[in-house]
Amino acid sequence: MARDLRVLVIGAGMAGILSVIRCRQIGLPDVTVYEKADRLGGTWRENRYPGVACDVPSHLYSYSFAPNPEWTHRFSPGPEIQEYLEAVAAEYDVDRDVRYGEEVTDLRWDGRRWHLRTASGIVDEGDVVIAATGVLHHPSYPDIDGLGDFAGTTMHTARWDESLPLAGRRVGIIGTGSSAIQTVPTIVDEVAHLSLFQRTAQWVMPAENPAYTEEEKAAFRADPGLLHTLHAEISELFSNGFSDAVVDADSEGMRRIEEACRANLEGNVHDPDLRERLRPDYRAGCKRLVVSPNFYDGIQRPNAELVTEPIDRIEAEGVRTAAGHLHELDVLVLATGFRVDRFLRPIQVVGTDGLTLDDAWARRPSAYLSISTPGFPNLFMLNGPNGPVGNFSLIEVAEVQFDYIAQLLEPLRAGEATWVCAGEAATDAFEEERTIQADNTVWATGCNSWYLDDRGVPMAWPWNFQEYRDRLAAPDPTAYVRG
Ligand code: NAP
Repeated sequence: MARDLRVLVIGAGMAGILSVIRCRQIGLPDVTVYEKADRLGGTWRENRYPGVACDVPSHLYSYSFAPNPEWTHRFSPGPEIQEYLEAVAAEYDVDRDVRYGEEVTDLRWDGRRWHLRTASGIVDEGDVVIAATGVLHHPSYPDIDGLGDFAGTTMHTARWDESLPLAGRRVGIIGTGSSAIQTVPTIVDEVAHLSLFQRTAQWVMPAENPAYTEEEKAAFRADPGLLHTLHAEISELFSNGFSDAVVDADSEGMRRIEEACRANLEGNVHDPDLRERLRPDYRAGCKRLVVSPNFYDGIQRPNAELVTEPIDRIEAEGVRTAAGHLHELDVLVLATGFRVDRFLRPIQVVGTDGLTLDDAWARRPSAYLSISTPGFPNLFMLNGPNGPVGNFSLIEVAEVQFDYIAQLLEPLRAGEATWVCAGEAATDAFEEERTIQADNTVWATGCNSWYLDDRGVPMAWPWNFQEYRDRLAAPDPTAYVRG
């Protein structure tokens, strides 16, 4: 007999908003989202550092059902993305299904349903849980002696204090990932002095960021077909130019990316000593590729300094390097990235026969096709472990994943099963195949990055994006167990 399913969603970021809208569209209106913050937006709510933007083109980083003629730039700034998410959520009245200020602490499977508890003591139950908790969510704080001793203001890029004035102050930034590379050129002209503490140099992919003209936006508004065409074109360009390249370290596409990065360094960094200090000793794309039109410009400003001596410790006045030099600072920015192995944790998740997610993932997180982990029936992840991550539109990824999950739910809705879960054998076989394939990617060519797991294996989808679409077009019933 057909039955209605109650869906619990964790997180009201991009993927949580998507889940509510798509659940309703496929006839599952009984959805509640639990969001620990008091506002939706996820990564775009949290990352408010100066210069924050998405380095995936905005028309690609948009829901397929909510194209946006108003994007101001090819790569629009973070606050504009937050506004977009809020506007889409408002249009679909997502808020009526969101419980804000409720941090989920426990999820327990009783053999038929999931029981949820929040920090404030709310309890709820549902047939299905969709974890939309994000990948780059838990800030990673560096293990540097004396970090707590600094007398000025210390803040992580994902915990930026927008009320803190920077004008005329001495600012130090630790890290050279995408967050730091966006912050440097944005603040350099405002601050008195900027010290960038680089442990590892980065290749920087140049990218122009033109604004859309009023005429272009008017044309997009007048003809939504234009936006669909643009989306398809950019998606194609991105696949050909990027996702096909990074999964094959020897590809022509990879050579083109490397050449563009090298030409950027050679052509735009004028002082030979600085150029060499900014030159990485690994292949472009090995670490998550950093895209910037103006980082080199920023770091060459007279008040900017690249510090490549290792940091020894932090003191009340600033950062002391190994050679004994003290860099005096008023503000210390930790652009030191995220703990990427957390996913839904620290939520205590207990699945079949008391199995906890911490135990299941004791070695490292894994999931069949990044969606489902054996022992955790009816628990599905959006942007879960080992899926397509860097330099892709994670909105596109989440949409593909949601459509796949919707198909997994069909037998439950038809009353043919109470639960469905990836089987052990299929998950192990997939993991083995994935691990072998990951060796061909540029991420495995000899650098340290957040893509690598404890074994040094890239924690990412190692085939191209089309392969992901193809494999997620329809679930393979033999890969799943049902009850
Ligand atoms: P990240 O790429 O993980 O970079 C962290 C930086 O901190 C690295 O340069 C790292 O150096 C350095 N670091 C960490 N611990 C350190 C220590 N103890 N001493 C000195 N340096 C230390 O972090 P992120 O820049 O926040 O970016 C994370 C991810 O977020 C990106 O890769 C990207 O996927 C996403 N992101 C995207 C955008 C976008 O435009 N779409 C913007 C920002 C972020 P090592 O390299 O030596 O480890």
